[in-house]
Amino acid sequence: MTKKKVLIIGAGILGASLAWHLSREGAQVSVVTANPPGAVATANSWAWINASWGNPEAYFRFRLESMNRWKRLAQEVPGLGFNPCGSLTYDLDEPALRRFVAEHARWGYPVRLVEPDEIARLEPGLVTPPPLSAFAEAEGVVEPVQATHALLADAGVQVLVAEVHGVSVRNGRVAGIMTGEGFVAADEVIVAAGAQSARLMATAGVEIKLETPGGVLVHTDILPPVLSRLVVSPRIHMRQTAEGRIVGGTDFGGSPIEAGPDRIAEEMMALIRQMVRGAQNAQMHRYSVGYRPTPGDGLPIIGRPAHVAGLYLAVMHSGVTNAPAVGAFVAEEILTGERDALLAPFGLERFSAG
Ligand SMILES: Cc1cc2nc3c(=O)[nH]c(=O)nc-3n(C[C@H](O)[C@H](O)[C@H](O)COP(=O)(O)OP(=O)(O)OC[C@H]3O[C@@H](n4cnc5c(N)ncnc54)[C@H](O)[C@@H]3O)c2cc1C
Repeated sequence: MTKKKVLIIGAGILGASLAWHLSREGAQVSVVTANPPGAVATANSWAWINASWGNPEAYFRFRLESMNRWKRLAQEVPGLGFNPCGSLTYDLDEPALRRFVAEHARWGYPVRLVEPDEIARLEPGLVTPPPLSAFAEAEGVVEPVQATHALLADAGVQVLVAEVHGVSVRNGRVAGIMTGEGFVAADEVIVAAGAQSARLMATAGVEIKLETPGGVLVHTDILPPVLSRLVVSPRIHMRQTAEGRIVGGTDFGGSPIEAGPDRIAEEMMALIRQMVRGAQNAQMHRYSVGYRPTPGDGLPIIGRPAHVAGLYLAVMHSGVTNAPAVGAFVAEEILTGERDALLAPFGLERFSAG
């Protein structure tokens, strides 16, 4: 039997997970990317894997599924850089924090309220534990660029570095893509091009709405191990990488970058020095500015347009959290025609005029 030829535009964390899952299920996969793997939003991500942020319940269920799949992937793919370190979250006022924990615990999420003594035991690196925090022990982090490379390497797929100019459609069906190097034929094309996805879909006559709020992350120099959890405080969220750098961010919806990323980064460095035991002398290694590919209603778009057969779109914020579930469910849909029930709220029809 001939293998289905699937071409993925994009080699961020989503393109890499799609490539891994599709090739494992027997597709003939190739990836075309304008930038080196993992280099765009994925490289500038805080990479928190969680089901506790931005949630209607259906999205919570999808994210939880993906969290569980990260654990399984970490056993199957060497060198993924996955760390299920748990998180302390206290960026809400007390009534909101209590509501959040009660609701998510009711949904079956392993999250509970913790007070200063326990917070200090869970995260000795905090100079001043907050009066109350949520502790979500199943949350974690992955080093996103490392994971992208690991998935692509383990999939053994061909990665072509080239700019895609457009998707070619003939008689209502995808024929392939146009690149600077010529036309490449494919049975199926998946657009996983992050913030560029709307522009590429438009070349196939499909309109979607994407916003791209920016975010600044600061990276310290390499420190001895001082933070063992993800810490989400009101003014900064922080984690320490395996390499030893603390990575801090200001907010999850978009930083006021117009105010100057240098100033935002310096303010975050001051907070890290003040809040983390053992980081008093930390220096800034660098800061990054990234743009979150965010559909208009904040939820992922994972699906096919109504009028172009063979075309598929996967674009979202929280792509690091969602990558394993997106990879698995999209592979299943493309190869068997079955659409997992968890994908129901994320169809493209809600934005598509095409
Ligand atoms: C500051 C910040 C913090 C974040 N924090 C988190 C977090 O804690 N947890 C979480 O889950 N998510 C987080 N995110 C979001 C997450 O990083 C993104 O959702 C995810 O990285 C998107 O991955 P992607 O593969 O879709 O896109 P990208 O990583 O942007 O990859 C897009 C790919 O498409 C390619 N491409 C684009 N246009 C073309 C073209 N014309 N031709 C060929 N190739 C093309 C690019 O070269 C690239 O390879 C954060 C994002 C930012 C910016």
